[in-house]
This record gives sequence, C-alpha cells and structure tokens, in this order.
Amino acid sequence: MRTPRSKPRSGPLGVARSGVLCALAFTLACMDTDDGGEEPPAEARGPDFDVRYQTKYVDIAPGFSQPVCRGSLDEIDRHVEVVADLLGISVEQRVLMFWYNQNATGAMAENSELCDWCSSGCGGCASTDATHVRNRSLHHELVHAVALPTWGRSDTLFEEGLAMGLDRVIGEYEGINSIYNLDLLGTTKPSDVAGSGQHGGAHFSRWLIDRFGPDDLRQMFERLTGSSTKAEVFAAVEEVYGLPFEELEAEYYATAPLAYPLPGLCEGLVHVPWEDGRWEFEASSDCDQPHMFGPADDGRNYAVATVDILPEHVGESLAVWVPSDVSALAWPCLDQPIYDVDPAVLGRSLFDNSILPPVFTMAMRYRVEVPIDDSEDVHLRLCPSNGLDPSHHPIDRTVDPENCLGD
Ligand SMILES: [Zn+2]
Repeated sequence: MRTPRSKPRSGPLGVARSGVLCALAFTLACMDTDDGGEEPPAEARGPDFDVRYQTKYVDIAPGFSQPVCRGSLDEIDRHVEVVADLLGISVEQRVLMFWYNQNATGAMAENSELCDWCSSGCGGCASTDATHVRNRSLHHELVHAVALPTWGRSDTLFEEGLAMGLDRVIGEYEGINSIYNLDLLGTTKPSDVAGSGQHGGAHFSRWLIDRFGPDDLRQMFERLTGSSTKAEVFAAVEEVYGLPFEELEAEYYATAPLAYPLPGLCEGLVHVPWEDGRWEFEASSDCDQPHMFGPADDGRNYAVATVDILPEHVGESLAVWVPSDVSALAWPCLDQPIYDVDPAVLGRSLFDNSILPPVFTMAMRYRVEVPIDDSEDVHLRLCPSNGLDPSHHPIDRTVDPENCLGD
C-alpha cells in the first residue's frame, strides 16, 4: 500500500501497489506495478482533477483550467491508434489520464504532485488504473497505457524499450538523436540493459518488431516481469527468437537501420504548400483549431504544420521570419527506415529571426512547431534567402524584413 505523500485523502485508497519497476535512469516513466483486480474508485486513481475531455480512447483530467487544444486532443487518439496498430493490439480499455502542468493557466497542482502518484519518480507513470503525465511524457506513457492491459509487464529492456522507441522525448540533442532514441549509437548494449532494471532498448525494440513482428515481442511480456534476471531474459529470448541473445544482438548491430519512422509524427497535420517562392503559414491561434497544440510544459500553446523541403532547396540558405520572434523547431519526418545518413546532420532544425538561415541537407517532409505567445496569430515564413542574413535588419525583429529571393 502506498499513500500519497502530501495530500491525505478521505476517499478509499484501495489499490495495493507493490514493487517499484523502474530505476529512474531517465526523467521519464516510472511505473507502479499493480496487483490487478477490480478497478478502484476515481479518487484512488489520481488527484482531484475533473475529466474535462473524452476523446475516442482517453479520459483526460487536466490539472489546469487552460484549454487543451484541438491538435493535442486529435494527436492523443492518433498516437493510441498508431501504437496499437504497430503492436497488433485492439484497445480494450479507456485510458484515464491525469495531466500536470504547473505553468498553464489555472494550474491546480505543482508538477511535483505527480511524484505522489508515481512511486519511483516524477516524470510520469502508467498503470492499468491511471496514467499520469506531463506534456513531455505524454506519448511515452500512452504507449505503456496501450500495451499494459493486453501485454502486461516485462523486463525493462522490452517494456521501457517499447515506450522509449515510440515516444517523443525530443529537443535535447543535436542531430537525428534529437527525435529518434538511437541507443544503437550509444555504448549501452541491449545485453547490458537486460535484467538490470535500467531504461534502454528503444531502438532494439523497434528492430525486433520490424524484423520478427509484434507477436514475438509480446512473448517477452508473457514470459518476463520487471524482476526477471538477466539469465531469465536471455533464456526467454533464446526460446522465442531461436538463437542465443549474443547472436541476436550481433545481428541487430549488423543489420539495423539508423532510424525507424516515428509512427504518427507527421500524420493528420496541416500542410503548408510551397507557393509563390516561399512557404508561408498564416493561421489563427484559436485553441480549437486543429493546427493548435498545447499547453506545452512551459504553458504556451504551439502551432504545428508540415512543410516539404524540395530537392531544389537542399543546400540552399533559407530565410526565416516569425513576427513574434520566437524560435520554431522542425523535425524530419521519415517515411521509411533510414540507413545511410550522418546522424549529426539529419535532425532538429531551428527557425529563428536572429540566427543564420537554416540549410537543409535532405529533401523530405518536416514537422514544424511554432510556439505562440499571447494571442497573436500564427505566422511563419520560410523562403530562399536573398543573402541578407538577419544581422542586416533586425533592430526590431518583429518587423517584416525583405529577405526572400524576389522581394
Ligand atoms: Zn516508461
């Protein structure tokens, strides 16, 4: 039995929770193990946040009064569907999601209250009773929430690997590692993670699904638990995959592509076409619009769209103008596994009024996110530069500069 630390409750606390599953090697995703059984009453499943949104799959109880924007609501369902589809799972149970954001308008709880419900950390957690998230951990915990009711739990190599391989912990690194969790490039091998309780194996899990299908991975959930030993993990792998772990691992390093597409990353988004010599995204910042997402963990909403960088613009300096003078971010949308690319080159790009123009090295679709300050409308312009870098004109960087070819 675990009791919330700071907020004693009068309601029943009927959930016996035992066993801490994950060491918090990362800020994300600590998970309570649960003993199954009857669904507990709502007050035992989370804080006093009301369910204000019911999407197709998720009951969302935000810990703030600020609206959750249409794009985020749509993307939550899309993520549930792409994860379930990849794993061959039919979603049988609605997800109850408590969403913490101390920076949003009308915040009812500090983010630290999340620690009261996630026994081993404060990044987020999922059990079959409830899921506790911040915006940053939302995709990760939803993967757990989809897998748990039908697959149950497993060794962290598979359970956390699966969630990490499909989450969106992006923006902290340069290059393709900024969006795809490429433990392929790290020094910690899957055999190090197995039976250790560490989080890892994101890319390895994607490879297992891609190479052998989801049913074999599901066997790893049926045969293993969070307390399985390394020897038990190795034995289960050999039984199901038909070869010793070290041979499977050698095959992984020999054959895996650098990155797999992140399902759903660039689906269902507003697309900004190339028109009149530029990409120009002008839209309302009304939270009910499908291109509006949020609140992000900093409390701001953000607009999301896609742009296609065409082959003729690869290697070309592009000029950027964002009147609100915020930095927009762009991530590459892979549509198939990618093998030959410099991981340091393909990755996150920053669009900003005051830095050098971005140059793209590959023609592909990009997901662009523009933070929105106040209630200003959304405006982003991207165009082939006429050579005037931002230092030529930004006394007031919000004033429309003439720096597109053809201006
Ligand atoms: Zn996790």
